[in-house]
Amino acid sequence: MSQPTKRTNYISWDEYFMGVALLSAMRSKDPNTQVGACIVSSDNKILSMGYNGFPLGCSDDEYPWTREGEDNKYFYSTHSELNAILNYRGGSLEGAKMYVTLFPCNECAKAIIQSGIREVIYYDDKYQHTPSVIASKRMLKSAGVVTRRYGRTGRDVEVHM
Ligand SMILES: [Zn+2]
Repeated sequence: MSQPTKRTNYISWDEYFMGVALLSAMRSKDPNTQVGACIVSSDNKILSMGYNGFPLGCSDDEYPWTREGEDNKYFYSTHSELNAILNYRGGSLEGAKMYVTLFPCNECAKAIIQSGIREVIYYDDKYQHTPSVIASKRMLKSAGVVTRRYGRTGRDVEVHM
């Protein structure tokens, strides 16, 4: 009888953490954009997660999700990256990595840099030509934060809830 060998089709670290970011995005109430983020230590332990939404106490049913008009979501919604940073209560994020489903905007880039996160792995970069993302990349580069696009594997992951 041969010894059992380990499974070989297990998911990679990148798939695992981007999967958590993608799952976090599914918690968002935003009808247009759902973004998720997962912060991971340098030794691959999940430290925090976040998705875009309104601050604590600001009801999803009372505040507007519209993008236009004098009262719109941009006044109130907090991006997933900032939520993930603020959700962390364990101390320093120095040297951590962030997995995020969309390339961070310039405001989140400031928070990422100041929190000590050293690497950003992103799934999508569909706003790459906007001034916000151009400014974001400029700051991340100046601060020495490594950015890399997540390498999609084509693996379908199915979970039964
Ligand atoms: Zn942002």
